[in-house]
Amino acid sequence: MEYSGKEFDAIVIGAGIMGSCTANELSKRGSKVLLLEQFDFLHQRGSSHGESRTIRATYPEPYYTSMVLESTRLWEEAEEEIGYRVYTKTLQFDMGPPDNKSLQSVIANCKLNSITHQVLNHQQVTEKFSGTFDMPHDWIGLSTELGGILKPTKSVSMFQTLAIRRGAVVRDNMEVREIIKDEERGGVWVCTSNGERYWGSKCVVTVGAWMRKLVKTVTGLELPIQPLHTTIAYWKIKPGFEGDFSPESGFPSFASYGNPYIYGTPMSEFPGLIKVAVHGGYPCDPDNRSWTTDMGYLGDVVGPWVEGQFSGRVQSDMPVMVQPCMYSMTPDGDFVIDFLGGEFGRDVVVAGGFSGHGFKMGPVVGRIVADLVLNGQAQGVDLSYFRLDRFQGNPKGNLKDFEDQGVKLLVAGGGSRHLARLWGTVGWAVRTGDDKGFALSHIFHR
Ligand SMILES: Cc1cc2nc3c(=O)[nH]c(=O)nc-3n(C[C@H](O)[C@H](O)[C@H](O)COP(=O)(O)OP(=O)(O)OC[C@H]3O[C@@H](n4cnc5c(N)ncnc54)[C@H](O)[C@@H]3O)c2cc1C
Repeated sequence: MEYSGKEFDAIVIGAGIMGSCTANELSKRGSKVLLLEQFDFLHQRGSSHGESRTIRATYPEPYYTSMVLESTRLWEEAEEEIGYRVYTKTLQFDMGPPDNKSLQSVIANCKLNSITHQVLNHQQVTEKFSGTFDMPHDWIGLSTELGGILKPTKSVSMFQTLAIRRGAVVRDNMEVREIIKDEERGGVWVCTSNGERYWGSKCVVTVGAWMRKLVKTVTGLELPIQPLHTTIAYWKIKPGFEGDFSPESGFPSFASYGNPYIYGTPMSEFPGLIKVAVHGGYPCDPDNRSWTTDMGYLGDVVGPWVEGQFSGRVQSDMPVMVQPCMYSMTPDGDFVIDFLGGEFGRDVVVAGGFSGHGFKMGPVVGRIVADLVLNGQAQGVDLSYFRLDRFQGNPKGNLKDFEDQGVKLLVAGGGSRHLARLWGTVGWAVRTGDDKGFALSHIFHR
């Protein structure tokens, strides 16, 4: 079909990893695509910037494993095509108390999906990782072969470059304010704050932490997707031990199950520093963030973990560098990938709520969204876990038998308040104070 310069087969709103992968995938399949971003491309105000994200197949939910495997293949294909690397392969090492239900589910899943894995005791962990990890003697470790580090900013740039090569039109500093159904012709009009209007036969909304805001503006519907302000922390490896923590020495990407859930990657982006972070954050307004870091929490809670787990080889009093980022949390920690519905029917696809574990999935999400746009259905994935209607009549969403369905509020500066149910039937039942008051630690294990 011949379109004018402002008419497209698909308009993708939001150029983080999800929008960039989707734009590339749609372009690959011959669609004329427009990718719109509200800020400069590769900005640092969303979720897909920085130097490292973990890729791993160790999920407690069985439906993510096949997605990771497909995504891994697509990451490799994209690297092959572009001619540079964004993915450093390592082992993945998970650890925790043997009765931790999430960890048990992860192990069961490895068996179910034939993921090569080893369950290790303290002595075996010491031997496998040359004494770098000193997990508690009564914990178990799980070593799997699919692990490693993805470079986020470089990856987003890679998928945008591939999309452009295939003919996608990309525009930054284009904040989308409205999506309007074209009653006569079908499709939608996408309108930006600087007065531009584009027509798309289909539209994809991949706006990360802005999802609830934009969808509410467009439809009045309040999606249960809560932005969290979170922080990545880098800790200094003590002189002489740097080599122990490199990917080349066999040091893995890792995660520690329990409260809080702690994860990290080998020394790679900054020489002499290792990333160790907590899965959690503060409820925030993505347009009005405090940008502060709760250093007290990092020092008091993560510090002792660093001291204990790394055999005293990493300085544990305080991180030496922090980087802010945002999560988009759903009540069940599962993604939202669905048609927007209502007056838009199947013309608008939303993909969001990636709940702090979406980066690795970017390429497979791009493939799934492109399927929905072009075919109205997606192959090879059970989308029932990701549909919006899972929250109808059940604000908590998907049931998980391996964990409680609540979230835990931690009072900044120490102490632990007990559970507050944040999720109401149409959004949030409990307000958590301003975004400085509390750390929200999500207890589903990622
Ligand atoms: C600290 C941290 C650590 C993480 N670690 C991991 C990990 O180890 N492994 C993993 O797999 N995942 C991880 N994640 C999660 C992962 O990074 C995210 O799930 C993923 O980046 C989400 O991408 P996105 O494209 O949905 O959102 P974003 O990257 O935020 O992209 C959305 C884009 O939409 C734009 N936008 C918003 N509104 C509009 C509008 N109205 N008009 C135009 N553009 C708009 C935004 O500016 C933004 O660029 C981590 C996240 C954080 C914050």
